[in-house]
Amino acid sequence: MYLTRFLRKQPPTITYLVDHYAQYPPTGLTMKKIVEFAREGDAHQSFLFLRSELPIRLASMMKEMNHLPSRLLDMPSVETVNSWYGTSLIELHSFKGLKPTTDVVKSFTEILQNIRKRHSTVVETLAQGYMEFSDLGQMKEYEGSQIQYFLDRFYLSRISIRLLIYQHTMCFGEEVPIHPTHLGFVDPSCFVEDIIRDAYENAQFLCESYYLKSPRLELRSINATNLNEPIAIAYVPSHLYHVMFELFKNSMRATVEYIESKKNDDNLPPIKVDIVKAKEDLTIRISDRGGGIPRSKADKIFRYMYSTAPRPVSLHDSQHSGPIPLAGFGYGLPISRLYARYFNGDLEIHSIDGYGTDAYIYLQAVEDQASEWLPICNRAA
Ligand code: ADP
Ligand code: MG
Repeated sequence: MYLTRFLRKQPPTITYLVDHYAQYPPTGLTMKKIVEFAREGDAHQSFLFLRSELPIRLASMMKEMNHLPSRLLDMPSVETVNSWYGTSLIELHSFKGLKPTTDVVKSFTEILQNIRKRHSTVVETLAQGYMEFSDLGQMKEYEGSQIQYFLDRFYLSRISIRLLIYQHTMCFGEEVPIHPTHLGFVDPSCFVEDIIRDAYENAQFLCESYYLKSPRLELRSINATNLNEPIAIAYVPSHLYHVMFELFKNSMRATVEYIESKKNDDNLPPIKVDIVKAKEDLTIRISDRGGGIPRSKADKIFRYMYSTAPRPVSLHDSQHSGPIPLAGFGYGLPISRLYARYFNGDLEIHSIDGYGTDAYIYLQAVEDQASEWLPICNRAA
């Protein structure tokens, strides 16, 4: 009897918590629900939802991580990421069963902020581990595809976790949204063209600093549902920005390098962007004349670490804090596609070798069709 009491008093181990929470499927939300909850919900309700939802999402990724090749798991940066997940899981679990008093909710909100900060460099850190693992040169073909599969799910899950945390801390905590009309991290009326121009200008700045020139932007918008209104949807502005910034960087690099290789550098063909909003879809097409991608490489461009640019200095090496590289990590396209897919959209690349590339971004224009696309854990324990 003493022994059982003793055992019961032990704090639960990470393995126990991971197994426990990972048995539940995540509860996916729609953009409509997120917007409504930001308007009508409160901190207590949000606390009750997140204290079980966040551990579920964290734990299912930790569980999947365990299935990675052990040589990868032993990489110090991978161990670091794993330990961040573990710490956060324990912190969240400590709220289990607590009454949602104002103080409890307040300290929960603070914990969420800490968790977000703790996890802020997860992408780079895991990327570092994968790079080191791949540099060992013993990666088998099947391990490569297993890791790609995992990273897609892992980074997607991370996107979702961050959104949930931001929605809580910005709607119900002390953090303020980036703009007063935003509902947390979400803009219920996100003017797509503004985001696109912003992303273009920042990519152009980088491009100019590398090549001392950049292609211009030609932008056309058609609002097929209401011709006179600017195009707006409920969306996460930073997600759209991320995707557009990555696509512009790619198109700019391709354009400048292709035209230079043709020794015809006076005339850079512009990057053309078309934005069309219909009843269901919001479609953005980015067309460049940067020479395209041969079909033999077409299925590689969405692989993590695949890049035709020279690899920039180490992701974490603060000694080399030179300019931000324009390309080279090979994370631009795969991560952008996850952002696009997260609310039921997509990203496709179609190319004409020897001519140019069209990137298509599809977003859901209907709020209750824009549901979170989540990695559901269906692996046997
Ligand atoms: P990175 O830009 O770091 O190389 P990305 O994932 O953004 O990684 O792109 C992967 C690769 O796909 C690029 O290195 C390039 O070879 C190819 N690519 C992407 N976009 C274009 C484009 N618009 N035109 C030609 N090639 C492209
Ligand atoms: Mg890129």
